[in-house]
Parts: sequence; structure tokens; C-alpha cells
Amino acid sequence: MKYTAQNMANQCGNTAFLDGQMDSILLAEINQMADVYSGRIFVVNESYGIVLDTASLYEDRTCVSDEVFRCMTGNSSIVEASDRHYMSFALPITISDQDGNGKQQIVGVLVFGASTQSIASIVDVMNEKANVLLLLGFLLLSVFAYGMSGVFAAPFRRAIVQMDALETGNLNMELDSQGFDVNRKAADAVNAIIHRLKVQDESRQQFVSNVSHELKTPITSCKVMAESLIGQENVPVEIYQDFFESILEEVDREQQIVTDLLELVRMDDMQGVLNVSQVNIGTMLEVILRRLKPIAQKRDIELVLEIIRPVTALVDETKISLALNNLVDNAIKYNRDSGRVLVHLDADHKYFYLTVEDTGVGIPEDAREHIFERFYRVDKARSRETGGTGLGLAITKSVLAMHHGVIKVESVLGEGSKFMIRVPLRYTA
Ligand code: ADP
Repeated sequence: MKYTAQNMANQCGNTAFLDGQMDSILLAEINQMADVYSGRIFVVNESYGIVLDTASLYEDRTCVSDEVFRCMTGNSSIVEASDRHYMSFALPITISDQDGNGKQQIVGVLVFGASTQSIASIVDVMNEKANVLLLLGFLLLSVFAYGMSGVFAAPFRRAIVQMDALETGNLNMELDSQGFDVNRKAADAVNAIIHRLKVQDESRQQFVSNVSHELKTPITSCKVMAESLIGQENVPVEIYQDFFESILEEVDREQQIVTDLLELVRMDDMQGVLNVSQVNIGTMLEVILRRLKPIAQKRDIELVLEIIRPVTALVDETKISLALNNLVDNAIKYNRDSGRVLVHLDADHKYFYLTVEDTGVGIPEDAREHIFERFYRVDKARSRETGGTGLGLAITKSVLAMHHGVIKVESVLGEGSKFMIRVPLRYTA
């Protein structure tokens, strides 16, 4: 409104309007503007005479209102009385100075008073329309959001149905890796878990079946021997004695398997709980070799201990002793008669290194990666003969892993094997 009014005030200055020579186009525009805004426009000349009143009431009268007076002195004003829905502008009508110095000279005032009622009603109507549009927009957005949520949730719904099937224990399935990126990633993560569970489940089943088989064998032997004794009459005492010796051997074997199994299960359960103390590894090896010497002597096997430097390490004494004992025991068991076992101990500032080398049967290449598995034996008959359970190396590997140690094996078939271990001197949990 102000812009239009200012525009008209400028045009009034440009014409001879103030002298009473009214331009009909400008006059029509002024009247039209007064009409549009339900207002009234006065044009006042330099002598405060009203040259135009769109209401044709005060023409040729003098106007000395405060507003007009201030505007003549260069202060245009805007009065807005929103409570009365009324607004008025007093805008100066200027012409360029006669001297041509570029200055403007005020030669009149255009007063534009308008009712803001009509504007308010327009605003009300627009508000109403905006509210309707807003409501419509909201409804449309809700419908769209509902539709989109259905689209987004669809892959999850499919996944839930598949997961319900998983809950029943059916691991022979995978989640659909389709849909949005996030679905694909979630499905891939779940599929990786399923895969791991499957591997664990298979290894558990394998383990249980191995355990059952191993435990059943000695019992079956005992049963067969006991039945054959009962089934015969007048059996000589020597046969009884012979059979009972065999039965005792089988019972010992069963006991050994159960002891080894319990040891393994306990290690799995405790998962790294070690009772560590400073242990002299050299002394520990001397004790182990002394204990095994009688078995070695029976087959004329020479046991040699080489300690390059004294080693004291922070380890669980019982467990490490068991692990090292298994290695030396195997080196004797799988050696040839009159063979040799060399145990070599060395250390640096971080680790101790132990090698157990024998002159025995050796391990076939394809078996080397399996010998640390539970119940794996290269030659079942030989292992059985020597009282092996197939758990010794699994226990050794487990103990070393608990100490953050590693074990490696080198072997030449028919010539011998060399087990090498490395264990940190200071155990860190
Ligand atoms: P076992 O109680 O049968 O000895 P282990 O777990 O100690 O079980 O060893 C697994 C298998 O690895 C053994 O059955 C044997 O075939 C092979 N093995 C282990 N140590 C040696 C060795 N020093 N020389 C040759 N074969 C070995």
C-alpha cells in the first residue's frame, strides 16, 4: 500500500496536479486505489489547501492536521490503529529544486487513509484456505507415510517370519538379503551368526558322537571279556587273570578318557581363568622327564634335556606342566625302540621357546593340521595300544592358547617329529 501511495505521490509532483490541472489517468488511479482499499485519499498543496479528496467532501478547504504539518517539514508518517482496523500514510509530494542542485523540494502531501478491515477479512479468508490446505496436506502426508512405512517394513516382516522358523532350531536356512541397504546389512549379519551357529552345532554333534564312541569302546571290550568268562565252564585261573588284567586296562583307559575330557571341559568353562605364579620352567621339565623316564627306559629311549638359559615365567603351573607332559609323553609313545627325545629350552626378553623332538614314526602331512583336534589320531590302533585318548594335543593347544602361546609342528614321516612352542614370559589376562 505504501509503495503504491508513494508512487502516486511521485506522479502528483511530476504533473501540474497541485495547480488544479489534474491528469485524468492519475485521478482515476487515485480513485481506484481509494476504492480498492475502502479508503480515502487527500492531496494537499504547499499552502495546506486540499486539492483532491476522493470522498469529495473537503475539496478547497484547508488541512492543517498534525500529520500533514510534519510531512511538510520532511517527516513522512505511518499511523496504524489495528484495534480500529485503520491505517494512514502521509507522504511528501516532491519536485526537483529549481536551482538544479539535485535537491528535492516538498510541494505537497498525499494522505492515504484506509480501512484495514478488508485486508483483515482477506487474511481471514486466506487463513481459512490455508488451514484447509494444511489439513489436506497433512492427510495426504499421513497416507503417504503409512504407505511408505508399509514398504519399509515389508523386508523386516519377511525377516521376522524367517526368524520364527529359526527359533524352532532349523539352522538350514538363511534370511533374504534383499530390500534396502539396511535390511541387507541386517540380514547379512544374522546370516553370519546362523553360519557360526551351524559350524558350532556340527562340531558339537561331532564331539558328542566322538565322546560316545570313545567311552563305549572300553565298556564293550569289558562286556565281551566278562561274557566270555561267564559263558565258559571250568575256565583256568590263568585265563581269568589274563582277562581281568585286560578288563583293568580298559577301565584305566576309560578313566583316562574321562579325566582328559573333564580337563578339556573345565578349560572351556573357565575360558582363560588361570592361577598364575612365577614358575621355573627348567625345573618343571626336569620333573616331567624324571617321571617319564621309566616308560622311556622300557623301550630304551634316551631322554635329553637341553636348557640354554634358566627360564622363569608367569604361568599356571599345573596346566603348563600338563601341556608339556603331553608333548614329551607323545615323543616317547610315537618313537621307535632305542630312539631319542630331545627337549630344548631357550628364551629371550619376551618369550620362552621349547622344542620337543623325537626320532619316531613321524606325522603324515595331511594329518598335521588335524592332530590338535579332539579325538583325532593318525593311527588309531597304535594310539590305542599306547593308551592314547586322542585328547592330549587338544589339551596342550588349549592350555597354550590360554597363555597366549602358540604351537607348531614339523615332521618327516618315518624319521621323527618336532613340536615347537612359544609362550610369553609374563602372562597378561
Ligand atoms: P593320543 O592320546 O592319541 O596320543 P594326542 O592328541 O596326544 O592323542 O595326539 C593326536 C595324534 O597325533 C596321535 O594319535 C598321533 O597319531 C599323533 N601324534 C602326536 N604326537 C606325535 C609324535 N610325537 N609323533 C608322531 N605322531 C604323533
